[in-house]
Amino acid sequence: MKTVLILSGGMDSATLAHEPGLGPLLCLSFDYGQRHVRELTAAAAIAAAVGAEHRILRLDGFAAACPGSSLTDPAVAVPHGHYAAETMKATVVSSRNAILLATAFGVAVAHGAEQVATAVHAGDHTIYPDCREPFLVALEEALNLGVWSDRRIAIRAPYLALSKIDIARRGGELGVPFELTWTCYDPQGAVHCGQCGACEERKEAFRDAGLVDPTEYAA
Ligand SMILES: [Zn+2]
Repeated sequence: MKTVLILSGGMDSATLAHEPGLGPLLCLSFDYGQRHVRELTAAAAIAAAVGAEHRILRLDGFAAACPGSSLTDPAVAVPHGHYAAETMKATVVSSRNAILLATAFGVAVAHGAEQVATAVHAGDHTIYPDCREPFLVALEEALNLGVWSDRRIAIRAPYLALSKIDIARRGGELGVPFELTWTCYDPQGAVHCGQCGACEERKEAFRDAGLVDPTEYAA
């Protein structure tokens, strides 16, 4: 095992899973009580497509203990509109990236892996402070201080400076089966809603990267 990769089932982590040089891969997905749990089915399909081991870790009770996010709290509506809008802060889940990275780091320690890989990108920085480089640098340092190991485990975020459009373009080059991926935050649909911020960003990424969008949208 070389890399423990956090795989949400979306376009970014699917593209990262297809990058050369990371394998052998252990793909980790998390059931943290997200209402768009459909993404975990996508994650399994993507892991299978790259021939990687896949595990889903369940954080039972997490969502109920952290009310207020539209992603986990049925009392909060999933906002429509562009991802950069102030309203998208409703999608923040308390310290989600910190928790997922720390958990993946523990798995990496247990497997003797070299690194943890995450597909956070430049578009995440605005509303998710735990997707920013200073946080990732500090977390890597803290987690390595906290384990018995004579070898550092790296936290790799190779898309930190890339936009979602850049990642779509990269995925196109790598032949990522984007039709397997799931982006939508709407908990109801059998297909992508086409209206939530995540869907807006997905549409924009395919369009601006000059790729055919394989997604079926409800609107
Ligand atoms: Zn949507």
